Amino acid sequence: MIFTHFRLNRFHFTVITSLIGLVLGTIGLPLTGCAPIAHDDDQSQATYDLEIPLFTNDQYEFKKVQISTLNNISSVSGQAAEFYYNPTVKNNVLDGTFPQAKIYKSNQGSLVAEDLKSLELLTLYYHFEKLMFFDQKMGVFYANSWPRKIGLEARVLDKNNRPSKNNARYASAFDGYLFESFIRPDLNLTVNGGVIAHEHFHSLFNKLVLIPLSQKFNSELPKSPEDPSHSDRAANDSNTRQLVKSKSYEEIKNKKIQVTPYLETIVRGWNEGLADTWGWVYTGDTKFVERSLSFEKSRDLSLNTQIIPEMNSLSFFMNSSVQSNSERLSYSYKLGSLHARMFYKIYLHKKKLSSAPDIEIRQEIAKLIVELLPQMVNSLFLLEEPVVSAALPIALLSQRSDLKDFCPDLVALVAKPDQIALNLSCETPSAQKNLSKTKLDKAELDTLKSNKSKSDNVNSQINADQKTSHE
Ligand SMILES: [Zn+2]
Repeated sequence: MIFTHFRLNRFHFTVITSLIGLVLGTIGLPLTGCAPIAHDDDQSQATYDLEIPLFTNDQYEFKKVQISTLNNISSVSGQAAEFYYNPTVKNNVLDGTFPQAKIYKSNQGSLVAEDLKSLELLTLYYHFEKLMFFDQKMGVFYANSWPRKIGLEARVLDKNNRPSKNNARYASAFDGYLFESFIRPDLNLTVNGGVIAHEHFHSLFNKLVLIPLSQKFNSELPKSPEDPSHSDRAANDSNTRQLVKSKSYEEIKNKKIQVTPYLETIVRGWNEGLADTWGWVYTGDTKFVERSLSFEKSRDLSLNTQIIPEMNSLSFFMNSSVQSNSERLSYSYKLGSLHARMFYKIYLHKKKLSSAPDIEIRQEIAKLIVELLPQMVNSLFLLEEPVVSAALPIALLSQRSDLKDFCPDLVALVAKPDQIALNLSCETPSAQKNLSKTKLDKAELDTLKSNKSKSDNVNSQINADQKTSHE
């Protein structure tokens, strides 16, 4: 559940990380007595019934579902997904051995997995097909190329060159997903619908936010704090920073800015928080992370919301040379959780006002996110300096007329909004022009530097968070 620097064969890259788990051991296979016919790899697309572990009634249990885009039963490949065991990377593309699944068609035409690996494959395929349809509904299908590529039993080395386990990742370097061996006594990540949707959202954030933003920054917005090209960027140049006033829109828009540890942490936090929200929207499971990683209690979206820290102390803390990459990494997940809980509260607010089915209200939250992403890009493009409030998503949401009733609750989630160069007033509909204004007052900064208690407060938050987010 952390960002990790790893190597796959000799390919060096960084990725956004997430979860792991195992369900198969705790649920057990439905060993039905239906007579297998034979493997059927006739390449024709059909609709199949199958039974997979699915989040239902607040737990995972076997449910009958359908898939309609599978082309090859043996390799479990089709329009939505294709799989590789022990994957490698060739020419920036995931490569490896196709599965030889033990799957039979019953006399009734249902697909029946004969072993756990085959059940994992069918379950993953079902989720990627459903996510593909969900992307179509949300208008973001175009962002990705399909079928999606998924590596299983991926051998990923951690920073100590040891094989990493119990993790799932989206890797932007080759636009694929990796699932490592899972050895925890929890729900396997390969069947955890929330985790699969979380990882899939990272691919959307990469295409719709990070790549469009890449031309704005003087270096790539990194996916990992261990990326060597960013590890030494600790110095804070706030002392010498001058806010240049009266620039034209075009000048501001085209001015490249530096990726600081602060900006890196904030953007990664948004990515993780929105991904957690996507995982819950898709499944309805607020505890989906904890279901596979039992130590991740704080990722539950239904927990109480907390204040988003104000910009000045946070940016000072993040840019300080004494903070380690792992501390910043840990903080990004904490920040992400605060945002995910905020979206859950918006859902509860909408639910009170609507008699629509639960899934439809959750999809309204997904739509909010889809509309938010380009707004975030636009706001970040207007940056003159590499400092932006961690509360930018809240500021953008507070401008929506459909959230007018909820606006005071949103604004209340931001600490000391008067110190943040964002217009968080619920009465003023057009704060957009101020969203990128990122003045750090020098006197305030000097005060911060001599005031240890502020950064110590943030520090203690991070230390507390680390206790719950590291294996
Ligand atoms: Zn993630």
